[in-house]
Amino acid sequence: MNQQHTSEQPADIVARLRATFRTGRTKPVEWRTGQLRRLRAMLTENGADLAAALHEDLGKSGTEAQRTEIGFTVREIDHTLDHLEEWLRPEPAPVPAHLGADATAWTQYDPLGVVLVIAPWNYPAQLLLAPVVGALASGNTVVAKPSELAPATSAALARLIPSYLDIDAVAVVEGGVPETTALLAERFDHVFYTGNGTVGRVVMRAAAEHLTPVTLELGGKSPVFVDRGTDLDVVADRLARGKFLNAGQTCVAPDYVLTDPETAPALEVALVRAVEAVYGTDPAASPEYGRIVNERHFDRLGALLGSGRVVIGGGSDRTARYLAPTVLADVDPASPVMREEIFGPILPIVTVSGLDAAIDFINDRDKPLALYVFSDSEETRARIAAETSSGGLGHGLPLAHLTVSDLPFGGVGESGMGSYHGRYSLDTFSHRKAVLAKPLN
Ligand code: NAD
Repeated sequence: MNQQHTSEQPADIVARLRATFRTGRTKPVEWRTGQLRRLRAMLTENGADLAAALHEDLGKSGTEAQRTEIGFTVREIDHTLDHLEEWLRPEPAPVPAHLGADATAWTQYDPLGVVLVIAPWNYPAQLLLAPVVGALASGNTVVAKPSELAPATSAALARLIPSYLDIDAVAVVEGGVPETTALLAERFDHVFYTGNGTVGRVVMRAAAEHLTPVTLELGGKSPVFVDRGTDLDVVADRLARGKFLNAGQTCVAPDYVLTDPETAPALEVALVRAVEAVYGTDPAASPEYGRIVNERHFDRLGALLGSGRVVIGGGSDRTARYLAPTVLADVDPASPVMREEIFGPILPIVTVSGLDAAIDFINDRDKPLALYVFSDSEETRARIAAETSSGGLGHGLPLAHLTVSDLPFGGVGESGMGSYHGRYSLDTFSHRKAVLAKPLN
């Protein structure tokens, strides 16, 4: 069993990891794949413990914990193990004639060194471990900082990681603002932050002191456009499943719906049917329905319920941190629910006159992390793809684009910078070194 270095200061941790990196031990592909296999074993051998922690923090069901956290990360590991050697292959570049026919050029991936991963509470295992997969696959050492707002998961990860991974290459630092602030004062070779934009700015300012590159995986309001004439039962079913997963506490959750005034009433009816089909008439009794992370967020969400007419839901229980899956109609774009990212189980429907107005509505606001379009018209889908900017775009299915390992996952503008998953994690956690070679004779 590995030993933990519990009372170490951030400077000592970073120095120790940097010393490991300098030995070159993390660079061979065998070390990288070995660590990924150990991480995989950690997840499969301790799935029940992790699921229990996720249930304690967020009321996540076992199925959801497996699907969106444990299994998700295992798939990311498997995809990386399947392709890592191929991704790491140096890529030849054509050489201009003036350098002579005997010159060759290529790019190679170099690990960066010591990277810091700071995770949020909403998918507290996945959002810590998936970046760690990319960091290790790229041959780095890592400081992993789980969210203090998911304390059971944070404690489980802090206990498990050192007993599976190389403790001189991976360190877990638990804690909140003081601990993260202390970490950010150190020099890292990359900082990977997932969370809100306010703290994103804090992270970027701290990193600027060391000229450290950052990846910021942020959030914001991800809109949905529902076109006239679509099959509203299919739309509502997919919207309900995507929106109310993890009680709406998903960075890429559909935040609000834009549709025309003729479609809205039928969509309301279809959403009522869909919510009841997925969570029953009493979602509080459904084992599949999660809870709000804490009372502060519960109270914040409660204050948004007055922003429209309640179509379904609205019920709550503060002691259980339960807020029913809720759909609001007749929502004014200036109302509180439309001013901030909802990050909870409230789905407002805002009516707009049609496609042009929907595109303007989206472009008048911050660039979203995700944008979802339900339309049978190829022209409509193409126009939205061409005329709006968002981190990701989902036609007909919310959330699912981030499960495609070969797609980059990240935001643009206010929703973040940089991306990861699969080979895009390698781009994030490595330097692409340009190499030119000319024989001496
Ligand atoms: P959070 O409160 O858990 O904070 C995230 C991390 O930042 C934590 O580890 C926390 O300790 C640290 N932190 C908080 N304040 C800090 C400070 N002043 N200085 C340094 N570090 C600090 O999570 P959150 O921010 O509430 O997360 C929710 C937000 O994250 C939403 O906006 C959501 O959309 C976004 N999000 C984005 C993604 C993505 O992949 N793009 C995924 C999940 C969540």
